[in-house]
Amino acid sequence: MNEALIRSVVDEVLGRLGQSQAGLAPQKIAPPVTVGAHSSVTVKSSSGARPLGVFQDAGQACEAAAMAFKQLQQKGVAARRRIIEIIKEMCFANAKEWGRVELEETRIGRLDHKIGKLTGIRSVPGVEFIHPNGWSGDHGIMLEEYTPFGVIGAVTPSTHSIPTVACNVVSMVAGGNTVVFNPHPNAARCAAMATRAFNEAIAREVGIENVFCLIEAPTLESFKAMCSHPEVRLLCVTGGPGVVKAAMQTGKRAICAGPGNPPVVVDETADLDRAARCVIMGAAFDNNLLCIGEKEVFVVEKVADAFMKALEKNGAARLNDSQLERLSKAAFVFKEGQGAGCPHPVVNRDLVGRDAAVLAQAAGANVPSGVEMLFAETEAKHIFVDEEQMMPFVPVVRVKNVEEAIQEAKRAEHSYRHTSIIHSHDVENMTAMARALDTTIFVKNGSCLAGLGNGGEGYPSFSIATPTGEGITNPKTFTRVRRCVMVDNLRIY
Ligand code: NAD
Repeated sequence: MNEALIRSVVDEVLGRLGQSQAGLAPQKIAPPVTVGAHSSVTVKSSSGARPLGVFQDAGQACEAAAMAFKQLQQKGVAARRRIIEIIKEMCFANAKEWGRVELEETRIGRLDHKIGKLTGIRSVPGVEFIHPNGWSGDHGIMLEEYTPFGVIGAVTPSTHSIPTVACNVVSMVAGGNTVVFNPHPNAARCAAMATRAFNEAIAREVGIENVFCLIEAPTLESFKAMCSHPEVRLLCVTGGPGVVKAAMQTGKRAICAGPGNPPVVVDETADLDRAARCVIMGAAFDNNLLCIGEKEVFVVEKVADAFMKALEKNGAARLNDSQLERLSKAAFVFKEGQGAGCPHPVVNRDLVGRDAAVLAQAAGANVPSGVEMLFAETEAKHIFVDEEQMMPFVPVVRVKNVEEAIQEAKRAEHSYRHTSIIHSHDVENMTAMARALDTTIFVKNGSCLAGLGNGGEGYPSFSIATPTGEGITNPKTFTRVRRCVMVDNLRIY
């Protein structure tokens, strides 16, 4: 161990001793994690009392990640490739257990889909995504390479904690970077558990400690300390409007994966049965926690009744007006003295990501067991249309024609430019909606999941950079482009 590493270890141990003396619970060490029999990675707790990757102090986490970056540079692309393999293998092998642990901590979403999100990490692109650009001419040759920033400071949401950590690590390490995470406080324990396990395996197999680091008890202060640390050269935040604003105010370059409120338009040319199945598939996925999930539907009046029948036929349960009113009152919290006209009601976190049965109970409705999604017909200006509610309930708005549908969809999307969906066989309607909403992801005749390579073409990511424009993040997103020129020589013609 070099001197700086020894110093960081000593600092960390002293820091922890200080906490114990101050009466705080000492940090627990994760039990050994064994990766499935098919995998080549077996994780044993090799670091004794020092869990790798998990830090109390943001500064120490940044220093450790900076040290890991230097080692990663030396070990080259082969090391990046192996780290990515380890992350993917471990996500796949531990999906059931880690999905359960995350659900137990956050109490939002669905176990089957939490497992699916972890197994899906296999499809996140790695080093193979990065190709240099070459140029050859009378004056010699030029090579543009995608090179790392160094240490990236990242923030992850409560909605997909371990999957976002894993997906970010794959993309960022593929680009040659190391990372420090300030996770969501409500989903930090599961992220710390996975971080330890990943880092143990990486240290043993690749010989680098703390390739990514996580702040165990994240706060706004640790966020600020991470963002302002001189070793942190780039930020990547995934979450709602608050964290996007905070990241943009740091003065550092920030890649921001912000909020969405994806609208769906259904026109008179749509395959209504397919449209209904797709809406249910997307909106019910992990109880509508996905930022790309279908949040409201605008259907032209000519086919509105048939579309709602198709939703029921495919297993969604319809709420009547009084049930809708009860659910709306339960799902949104208004500050004292404010009513339904309050411009910024707060979503009731107790109902976010809960099963359709729980929402039905709040609405006073009896629905058959196994129902995955609820819906009701609402006005265009309904609170469930305007707010990103993240619940498996979808408001359906009847509109005169496709022009009105597109106009209302644009209003409901709030110019987040995140995701929108159309069910139509009219290319002009598709084009009109694509142009009007200008969203990062635009799905035609599929569920929102198709926009992230699940049932559609393309690759997945858990960070879709919307306000800052990088789009669906991938290894190239986390690189700098550098040019190397050789004048006159090295050409072979
Ligand atoms: P959230 O905004 O409550 O929290 C996200 C993260 O930001 C957390 O780690 C939180 O601690 C941190 N944070 C929040 N406010 C902050 C501030 N002022 N300063 C510093 N850090 C702050 O979001 P959530 O409920 O965890 O996740 C759901 C939200 O995230 C939704 O709006 C969803 O659309 C969005 N999201 C977007 C993407 C995407 O790829 N664009 C992916 C997942 C989630």
